[in-house]
Amino acid sequence: MVVGAGLAGLVVARELVAKGHEVSVLEAQDRAGGRILTLREPLAEGLHVEAGAKHVVPDPDLLALCASARVEVVKPKRPEPLKRVTYAHGARSILDPHGETDEDADLSDAERKLGFRERLQHYLPPGAIHGADWLRPQLAPYDAVSIGEFLKRQGASPGYVRMIEGSIVPGDPDNTSALSVIREMASIVRELGLPPNGGRVVGGTDRLPEALAKELGERVLYEAEVKRIEQKPERVRVLFVRKGRVHAVDADRVVVAIPYSVLRGVEISPTLSPQKQKAIREMKLVSVSRVWLQSTNRYWNLRGESGDASSDLLVGDVKDETAALPGPKGVLSAYLSNAKAREMCTRPPPERVMTALSDFEKIHPGMGDHLSVGLVKCWDEEPFAKGAYAWFAVGQMTEFGSALHAPEGRLHFAGDHTSNRPGFMHGAVESAKRAAAEVLAALTPKPTSVTDERPRA
Ligand SMILES: Cc1cc2nc3c(=O)[nH]c(=O)nc-3n(C[C@H](O)[C@H](O)[C@H](O)COP(=O)(O)OP(=O)(O)OC[C@H]3O[C@@H](n4cnc5c(N)ncnc54)[C@H](O)[C@@H]3O)c2cc1C
Repeated sequence: MVVGAGLAGLVVARELVAKGHEVSVLEAQDRAGGRILTLREPLAEGLHVEAGAKHVVPDPDLLALCASARVEVVKPKRPEPLKRVTYAHGARSILDPHGETDEDADLSDAERKLGFRERLQHYLPPGAIHGADWLRPQLAPYDAVSIGEFLKRQGASPGYVRMIEGSIVPGDPDNTSALSVIREMASIVRELGLPPNGGRVVGGTDRLPEALAKELGERVLYEAEVKRIEQKPERVRVLFVRKGRVHAVDADRVVVAIPYSVLRGVEISPTLSPQKQKAIREMKLVSVSRVWLQSTNRYWNLRGESGDASSDLLVGDVKDETAALPGPKGVLSAYLSNAKAREMCTRPPPERVMTALSDFEKIHPGMGDHLSVGLVKCWDEEPFAKGAYAWFAVGQMTEFGSALHAPEGRLHFAGDHTSNRPGFMHGAVESAKRAAAEVLAALTPKPTSVTDERPRA
């Protein structure tokens, strides 16, 4: 039995089915994919945007999964280099497409001489390489310090810390564990060295979970919200609510593939180990809000501007989502994280688009005249995610890092937050393969011949 039909849950189920096991997947929503969420309505025909996962990192396991699910991944064509806009301190400026970005200008001379990957490598401590045992005692001191403090001690400029805040540093740099970011930096260094065959899923990232869910067919039960999990000596009983009724189902093993922010609301009996409870209770998720404004045409291109812009406004940086999509209509987007994301989402929904519009109008004057659709998505408000992706405060990797993925009796745990790459689809896939291997190792296969009684996961 698998709880959650996000990417992790779907891959666990697929792996177990491939080994001849009977598997059911309980999914609270009426769709698979969880934080993979492609929005098409109410955008113009042929347009789509990604509220969740968008970039397919060229991780071999993720690419193999896409290929086996017949989902095509392409590198988006680089649009023509056009002028970029920056909006800061109330003034709009136009930047040369090949010139230095305003972010680069904040770096130290030494940092400016290095490329993106070399800068990451420069600040990595010895032994910080992809595949390292991140919880080994020698690395623990890096968990006792914030990434802001660590980089300062290494001589990094405040401009560099600002540059990676909100992207490589998911939380507040003064409170985010340096070890968690060092792990992330080492992963990025490795990923940038892989063959560049990642990109975007053709037609939208949701094509991947859709294809996997289709393969699993009726094994996936939708609108089935798990409320309670009871471990018995011989089996696990899972109670879920579907269409207003409580149902119970038994399984040999259960893989829990939902974020810990949501697992907090599921009763588990008997109680889990203190360390696992702490992880479930205290794991933090980054707040992310996404904004998209669709315009009747890409009027910024007519001015020779790319649509991509940086700003010091609430919406922050703006991207042209339609640069590689067909049709005349345009979609500009913004990605707000942490305090800015929460600030946007404290406003009542109709005000959110107006707030974004007012900022976009300053960055790309004309949006007010051309706007046809406005959308804002607050991940903190998603009842089955309660945030965007996991981050670790100072000390948390040491406190409960090893408990994140550890099985407890007949319960196994999957999801990107239990992997070495939280916040990424390949982290979800890594976790799923590990959890499926645990279940396969634990289940004693039974003969399948006469009665076709297959072992039930
Ligand atoms: C804004 C944003 C941008 C991102 N960008 C990228 C990117 O560019 N590239 C990338 O690789 N990754 C990206 N990610 C991360 C990626 O989306 C996740 O790592 C991945 O989808 C996580 O999959 P999962 O299966 O672990 O969890 P989820 O997708 O959260 O799946 C959990 C599932 O469990 C279900 N569920 C929850 N509670 C219950 C319950 N009680 N009972 C039954 N079902 C339940 C949920 O409905 C959901 O379907 C992004 C995520 C966000 C939010």
